[in-house]
Amino acid sequence: MAISTEKPTEEKVPAEVPAVEKQRWVLNDFDIGKPLGRGKFGHVYLAREKRSNHIVALKVLFKSQLKQSQVEHQIRREVEIQSHLRHPNILRLYGYFYDQKRVYLILEYAPKGELYKELQKCKYFSEKRAATYIASMARALIYCHGKHVIHRDIKPENLLIGAQGELKIADFGWAVHTFNRRKTMCGTLDYLPPEMVESVEHDASVDIWSLGILCYEFLYGFPPFEAKEHSDTYRRIVLVDLKFPPKPIVSSAAKDLISKMLVKDSSERLPLHKLLEHTWIVQNADPSGLYKF
Ligand code: AMP
Repeated sequence: MAISTEKPTEEKVPAEVPAVEKQRWVLNDFDIGKPLGRGKFGHVYLAREKRSNHIVALKVLFKSQLKQSQVEHQIRREVEIQSHLRHPNILRLYGYFYDQKRVYLILEYAPKGELYKELQKCKYFSEKRAATYIASMARALIYCHGKHVIHRDIKPENLLIGAQGELKIADFGWAVHTFNRRKTMCGTLDYLPPEMVESVEHDASVDIWSLGILCYEFLYGFPPFEAKEHSDTYRRIVLVDLKFPPKPIVSSAAKDLISKMLVKDSSERLPLHKLLEHTWIVQNADPSGLYKF
């Protein structure tokens, strides 16, 4: 498969790891600890880099499964994009290596785990917590868009929580490095913007739409266009059939912000730097970006 035939040229050493620059990683460089979770193509383990004692998350992907699902290209793109991003709200990808059967990704460890589980536990977040996360997401996306990277798959399942309670965008599987408008259909149904549902060209403003969906789901506990049948979700997205239920009680400022992000005409969506100036964000988001729980 593609990944195994090329020389791993971009093997990066964790920033905090001294004196091991340009190291070519092998499995024996790590002590493997407890499993952290299971993904579609393999497992994630807590691991310690032996020389530096640096704690990382090691994602182990089986080549056979990647090949079978024809996602080698997607993984390669994910690695290329994520390894070049440096932002406090983006999970670092320090490097990768492989053997005959597996590909290993060396990732920053997010000790507080999945945001999705937190949301399930709480059902929905307080406005302060939601605003703190949305502001962090906006800052991370401004950074990505500045580098011509569109994420295209913002959703709670792709977000992890760091040691201080800070949010980390973790999955760049659908991200794309682009200067052009694109037509590919990707992302998860509930979070897809109308232009992707209708397979017309899209640009970085798809991430503003998905952030609007995320904000809604944080505050209500479910995404706005949810429906039993996929075809109904499609229809509700295309019509922007946005309704705010009476419970839980959500401020009109939050609803105003969501309404300004979930706009059908992608050029009319609230730009991310304006989002950071919106009253709801200014009044509720913790400027540190940290939410202690
Ligand atoms: P994935 O294959 O990326 O979906 O990862 C599977 C599961 O492993 C996730 O749902 C998390 O629970 C856990 N996990 C993945 N990456 C990390 C990480 N960097 N830090 C902590 N837990 C992780």
